[in-house]
Amino acid sequence: MNEKRIENLIIIGGACAGYTAATYAARANLEPLVIEGFQWGGQLQNTTDVENYPGFPEGIMGPEMMTKFREQAERFGTRFISDDATRIELSDGGLQHVWVGDEEHVAKTVILAMGAEPKRLGVPGEMELGGKGVSTCGVCDGAFFKGNDVVVVGGGDSAMEDSIFVSKFADDLKVVHRRPEFRASKIMQERAAERDNIEFKTPFTVEEFVAGDEGKLESVRLKNTETGEAEELEVGGAFVAIGHTPRSELVAGQIDTDEEGYVKVEEPSTRTKLAGVFAVGDLVDHTYRQAVTAAGSGTKGALDAEWYLRDTPPSPEAHWFGKAGEALDGKPDPETVQA
Ligand code: NAP
Repeated sequence: MNEKRIENLIIIGGACAGYTAATYAARANLEPLVIEGFQWGGQLQNTTDVENYPGFPEGIMGPEMMTKFREQAERFGTRFISDDATRIELSDGGLQHVWVGDEEHVAKTVILAMGAEPKRLGVPGEMELGGKGVSTCGVCDGAFFKGNDVVVVGGGDSAMEDSIFVSKFADDLKVVHRRPEFRASKIMQERAAERDNIEFKTPFTVEEFVAGDEGKLESVRLKNTETGEAEELEVGGAFVAIGHTPRSELVAGQIDTDEEGYVKVEEPSTRTKLAGVFAVGDLVDHTYRQAVTAAGSGTKGALDAEWYLRDTPPSPEAHWFGKAGEALDGKPDPETVQA
């Protein structure tokens, strides 16, 4: 007979928000289990220098920072599964069920911290030159491109915001967009247009990011979508700002999401419409998407989960949960169930 432990808290997602939630929850003696993903570390795993996270005045490499976040959570007793959650069955106030392949995990609360992924153009050189001139975050990386000519790709508010920020450092900045009309709000578009060193270049698609001899971005090949004419721009940096995709696919249909798939929470808390289910980090955040805001959100998630556990009587389900949902013989320990 196997004993299946009922966790206090399962955190799904191993990056800024998830690890911070784990540190707080572990220090509150909740012994959290983090299902951190096979490629844990999130977007910072693909980032080089992080210079804007408080407490690191000299800067720190993204992967090193994530290792430190993880170690800090581990120090207080967090346990990790370094694999992807494959199925999630959420409950409104009952037990939460999470699978990693065939392995089922059960908890009284769950924090969803699966993050969001920047959308990619899918053109040659884009992934290869990540961290070597091609970036998906102007606010994170703009300061590295002082005195460079750069392009920002996209026509929405993210592209405008990135352009305005990066134009403080870059010499010449071209916003490359595939249509003559922009999706961005008028005010953001106007603010970008007012900057002396920003020019809108439409209607162009990016065909390729080209590396120079040193393996860094040297130029970008464009194509005019109306005339088919090709053009090559010499640039030191390129920012792909065509939106993000929240990683909410495993909980779609179970909790409220907006039209783009971001999980809705009862702000300013991290509570979802399901009791015992919390959501944090980029999974809920359209706007800020910074390591430090994700970490702050993870903190809120851990506190919300802790307060929920403190204020909620044990679920009756915890006393009869079995593999087939049938009552078990005898009285299992409330902290474990038998399968
Ligand atoms: P978005 O509004 O969806 O815009 C994405 C842009 O990228 C569009 O112009 C789109 O072109 C272009 N695009 C998408 N896929 C592309 C591809 N494969 N190749 C070339 N271009 C492509 O995304 P967003 O700008 O990230 O904004 C998301 C949400 O966050 C919006 O609601 C926005 O208002 C909000 N936001 C607000 C602020 C702010 O207010 N400060 C800042 C950032 C974001 P098409 O237009 O041709 O489809």
